[in-house]
Amino acid sequence: MRVLGIETSCDETGVAIYDTDHGLLAHRLFSQIAMHAEYGGVVPELASRDHVRRVLPLVRETLADAQMNMGDIQGVAYTAGPGLIGALLTGASIARSLAWGLGVPAVGVHHMEGHLLAPMLEENPPELPFVALLVSGGHTMLVDVPRIGEYHILGESVDDAAGEAFDKTAKLMGLDYPGGPLLAKLAEQGRPGQYKFPRPMVDRPGCDFSFSGLKTFSLTTWQNSTQTLQDKADIALAFEEAVVDTLFIKCRRALEQAGRKRLVVAGGVGANQRLRAKLATLNAQVYFPRLAFCTDNGAMIAYAGALRLQAGASEPAVFQARPRWPLTELRGL
Ligand code: ATP
Ligand code: MG
Ligand code: FE
Repeated sequence: MRVLGIETSCDETGVAIYDTDHGLLAHRLFSQIAMHAEYGGVVPELASRDHVRRVLPLVRETLADAQMNMGDIQGVAYTAGPGLIGALLTGASIARSLAWGLGVPAVGVHHMEGHLLAPMLEENPPELPFVALLVSGGHTMLVDVPRIGEYHILGESVDDAAGEAFDKTAKLMGLDYPGGPLLAKLAEQGRPGQYKFPRPMVDRPGCDFSFSGLKTFSLTTWQNSTQTLQDKADIALAFEEAVVDTLFIKCRRALEQAGRKRLVVAGGVGANQRLRAKLATLNAQVYFPRLAFCTDNGAMIAYAGALRLQAGASEPAVFQARPRWPLTELRGL
């Protein structure tokens, strides 16, 4: 079954075609980052309007890459939430209309299930069961996954997501949006041991996280420094080490608690090289998506949707987008 996937939950328009027999055939992404950078963050209304402009041209280009025509599409998957409501509705309405016009089924995909399944697109995909660390701009959670579609939350952030803390720390030191990757780059120039940041909540039982305190710690450290470029790099490194250590400790705990031997890492912060290197030292098999599929993309939506469509998922030709959507409400396949 050849499934067209459309991702529009935030500031990236992603389109892909996944074939349940032949794997990923093509994928394209248009990032709105340059447009939002001017405002220091995502402007929801501008995001929706840009998705309107981008989706159909991207669909045509992706079809051309896969040497396919519209008529070859046998199902459509779109991100139905969580995300920005206007952006979600844009993707949902285009996807639903395409499916209606083509006479094929369509399915709304949970954005975080998409992230979680992204490592399945790699050459050596993880077997189930596993524990997943979802670390993105809006979520930080540890999830036990006995089978696809059944998600037990082992822990999550009680305040900021890890990516959000990266972005906010970067912003307060004057870096552009989104600051996460820029902060990580800057940390490469940092000198170890110049600053010592706390590892929030590691001395408490359980797998919950808290990252807003680290952001405040960054702010006061930055304000009390001489604010040179070297200070900035030193703080970036100390901050990054604190986030990575904290995630590492909680992943180890989650694997023990759930009795699993496999860890899947997904979401934008999963692109962080220090995190990848540190998690690789766990006494477990660790799986990451390729860098391009850590952040938002159409491939993960096409894949997650293809699994659901293949399992016979069918929805009436009405769509609902959910800006908030607990992962645990999904039904097992
Ligand atoms: P969600 O998926 O929770 O709705 P989102 O879609 O905005 O949020 P993603 O696109 O998965 O999040 O990831 C974007 C986040 O990842 C941003 O916060 C960004 O700063 C962060 N990020 C990307 N690359 C890196 C990196 N190398 N190091 C640290 N953070 C990074
Ligand atoms: Mg994004
Ligand atoms: Fe995302």
